[in-house]
Amino acid sequence: MNDKPNSIEARDIAYHLHPYTNAKKHLEAGPLVIDRGEGIYVFDNNGKRYIEAMAGLWSVGVGFNEERLVNAATEQMKRLPYYHTFTHKSHGPVIELAEKLVGMAPVPMSKAFFTNSGSEAIDTALKLIWYRANALGQPERKKIIVRNRAYHGVTIAAACLTSLPANHRSFDLIVPDVLRMTCPHHWREALPGESEEDFATRLAKELEDTILAEGPETIAAFFGEPVQGAGGVVVPPATYWQKVQAVLRKYDILLVADEVICGFGRTGTMFGSTTYGIEPDIMVMSKQLSSSYLPASALMMNDRVFGPIMEESDRIGTLGHGYTASGHPVAAAVALENLKIIEERDLVGNAAAMGRRLRDGLDALTDHPLVGEVRGVGLIAAVELVTDREARTALETPGALGALVNAHLQEAGLISRAMTDAIAFCPPLIITEGEIDELLSLFRIGLDKTLAALP
Ligand code: PLP
Repeated sequence: MNDKPNSIEARDIAYHLHPYTNAKKHLEAGPLVIDRGEGIYVFDNNGKRYIEAMAGLWSVGVGFNEERLVNAATEQMKRLPYYHTFTHKSHGPVIELAEKLVGMAPVPMSKAFFTNSGSEAIDTALKLIWYRANALGQPERKKIIVRNRAYHGVTIAAACLTSLPANHRSFDLIVPDVLRMTCPHHWREALPGESEEDFATRLAKELEDTILAEGPETIAAFFGEPVQGAGGVVVPPATYWQKVQAVLRKYDILLVADEVICGFGRTGTMFGSTTYGIEPDIMVMSKQLSSSYLPASALMMNDRVFGPIMEESDRIGTLGHGYTASGHPVAAAVALENLKIIEERDLVGNAAAMGRRLRDGLDALTDHPLVGEVRGVGLIAAVELVTDREARTALETPGALGALVNAHLQEAGLISRAMTDAIAFCPPLIITEGEIDELLSLFRIGLDKTLAALP
């Protein structure tokens, strides 16, 4: 790190509290300052090049220097830099984006509502679900079901649905009624000898037993990521989503698909819901919606959700919810151009093909002493690290091995993310064969260096 008193690093330490960072350690360690991007690469302020193997935060689908998005933003800025969507106001980009999203949906959807972050979209889904329950004269129908290791964001309500300890500890969240099911991670949670199908049957039974114990009339919705992302890239076991959906349908419980990571190609089809045959009532989207060039998120709902909300807003006089930047015209223009690029360049097909190559390369590492499990679908994958392959355990402090490997990867020029002791890969959808191979060879170097450094 550059420790000159007025260096950019010193100023970051002096003035900036970072999200998802140990604030005390940061005073010593300082930042990695990223200066520019090009394709799947970013460069730090010393000119060092890194493969951005997480596409930023699972989000920069089209890579880090897409001129068409810059032009879309510039043109919209010049024409109408801002307008809102409250009180019957609208504008071209938001109308076009709403129509586009409803048209792309894998199941019939009725309306899109716009927000700015994944957390806001999740909060909005929760509020609309409660609003709907009241509209239907079912005020007791408010409980929400999620899974352990779920990540749905960090605003107060979204953080309650998130089921990772660091998002709850010391925050005094005002917890609504949330029921947490077993994480669908076969490698970690299945009983000895239990097949994926039997594991899925057991989880569906757990869900049904919980619903019956709580009273089906008290349960509003089930929120789930098609593939859990921040919880460790948890790919659901075979038949899981069919079995879960059968239970939810039986008890008339809404299904919310959190597509914030999976949406727009990540799993090798346009939506995670397509990959797994999920038929959600609400879909939540962000990240690759705009490739994160500007903050943008949205939720779509079907008529079953929209109908009662419409009636309730008429009874009250308004739908008293929305954000200053809901459907921001510049973000909407960028999202539209981004979706056009994804379709024109068949980046979904590329994600499927490059995902297979990534997976083959990672599978070839399964005999490495530090590799416990390789998992993934499409262009999202994780490698679970272990120091004892038999016992499936890592170093004594959870996350220590992940952090060590991550540090070696960064040194080698590969930015990834350690989720406890799993290393995630979620590169831009534009990645090429040669770049996948480069990523894999840097990963092997990082693993070998870590192995050599272990006591
Ligand atoms: N839902 C999922 C599945 C996510 O991965 C994330 C963020 O990583 C969120 C919601 C929250 O999004 P944001 O960070 O934009 O609030």
